[in-house]
Amino acid sequence: MQPAKQEPETQTDIDMKDIVALCKRRGFIFPASDIYGGINGFWDYGPLGTELKNNLRDYWWHRMVTCPPIGPDGHPLQIVGVDSAIIQNPKVWEASGHVGGFSDPMVDCRETKKRYRADHLIVFIPDPSLGVDKLFAFHEEATNEEQEKRLKKFGVKFEGKFIGDTRRLENCLDQLDKILAPDAKEVGTLTEPKEFNLMFETYCGPVQSEDNKAYLRPETAQGIFLNYKNVLDSSRVKMPFGIAQIGKAFRNEVNPRNFIFRSREFEQMELEWFCHPEEAKKWRDFWFEERQKFWRDVGLTSDNIQMRDHDSDELSHYAKEGLGTADIEYKFPFTAPDFGELEGIAHRCDFDLTQHQEHSKTKLEYLDPERNNERYMPHVIEPASGLTRGVLALICEAYTPDPDRPSGVYLNFHPKMAPKKAAILPLMAKGEQPEVAEKLYMALREEFSVDLDIKQNIGKRYARQDEIGTPYCFTIDDQTLEDQTVTVRERNSMAQERVHIDKVAEYLREKLRG
Ligand code: ATP
Repeated sequence: MQPAKQEPETQTDIDMKDIVALCKRRGFIFPASDIYGGINGFWDYGPLGTELKNNLRDYWWHRMVTCPPIGPDGHPLQIVGVDSAIIQNPKVWEASGHVGGFSDPMVDCRETKKRYRADHLIVFIPDPSLGVDKLFAFHEEATNEEQEKRLKKFGVKFEGKFIGDTRRLENCLDQLDKILAPDAKEVGTLTEPKEFNLMFETYCGPVQSEDNKAYLRPETAQGIFLNYKNVLDSSRVKMPFGIAQIGKAFRNEVNPRNFIFRSREFEQMELEWFCHPEEAKKWRDFWFEERQKFWRDVGLTSDNIQMRDHDSDELSHYAKEGLGTADIEYKFPFTAPDFGELEGIAHRCDFDLTQHQEHSKTKLEYLDPERNNERYMPHVIEPASGLTRGVLALICEAYTPDPDRPSGVYLNFHPKMAPKKAAILPLMAKGEQPEVAEKLYMALREEFSVDLDIKQNIGKRYARQDEIGTPYCFTIDDQTLEDQTVTVRERNSMAQERVHIDKVAEYLREKLRG
């Protein structure tokens, strides 16, 4: 594969470039294969990025599996976890529809040679009163400024608002000859949509033949459906119940962009919630609330998240019959003032289990002892979120420019998510202070992820902790040696107070509980 220099696209505003730079400078996220110039769509997580990702991952697992939410009837839900293989029998992807089924239609631009997912293009149709005979295709992630700039370039009036109609490309295929592709100068350069599946292919064993072809999973969800029967047979769950999974997914995205937002290798956190078909609505409403609460609890502010129901022309193959899909969206700097998908909550009906029953010839219906042994195919509500996309949301939310502090910026992570919970900083690098600091560090390290930083002047050390989002810095000074108190500096307010050295662990425990 041709190595490509991986840089975020410049359509993102300046903040995004600063965020990407900070992530690299402080060891959160690096371009994969950096010393070879990168590889488009792949990213590596550095020491702090890995901690942050693990914190989000572990908290999701805690909220879903270890300590599941209390259901509408006041009892804890039953949710168990699985960790399925990335490569499965290729028949799985035929049953799920990823191969030979609903693979994603693509359109090519004959002029720019760019390829787009048809469902990612939006078409602006100018109002006839404007006298413009072209239609304008945009990538759905294009910012308002980009749209405005481009429309103005072609003489379309844009006074804070576009005058005309907006439709998805799929609904304008009869007018392809009038459409100006996103980066094209001539109209009519988009081809008809062609089927293209986004799955990475590989071969199992030494022979590269069709018979040995396999795929890297494009979602973690199917690994759950595959284990539905094994879980039912081996554990004591009863309807309704959930199976959760966190893991890598791979999609050969045509246009990876916006840092880790859309990459070719990423991680998902998915729950399949199985229930009686008549209860699907109750559970969908429950998960809508619960999942928004989760994102608020990890530090995303309400103003920056919203729920959006899918339009009828966006509905997936499995959702057409059901209650539809809604996304939890986040206002990323590159989508603002619009929002981008963070998590999808879909009513998948009985689509997957029915498909697998048919293709595998294994009975997957549920015999419900609580409902007079009624036999039915459960319906599924699926809250499916991106772990790596969630990490990006946490970083964007936390990024706070502040010209009044030496670092010029700090990361305002929720203490639960912060990669380092505290730093221990002796004012002097020599004498008794470093010894006391080390003792405190040894007392805390088993329980908390803490940094002991002894060298450099204190301003520089605070600046580093601000930039990596450490919520508390404990400083050991001369007074510590006299009265066993340390100063604690709170990251956001920079306010300082003194606490007894023996109370530091309790102080941290208390703060992290929130
Ligand atoms: P999109 O429309 O953005 O391609 P999708 O609707 O196909 O996403 P799902 O299949 O519902 O996504 O996947 C669930 C979640 O997985 C998404 O909400 C997103 O957070 C994450 N995700 C999907 N594709 C990618 C990707 N290429 N890179 C990073 N995260 C992704």
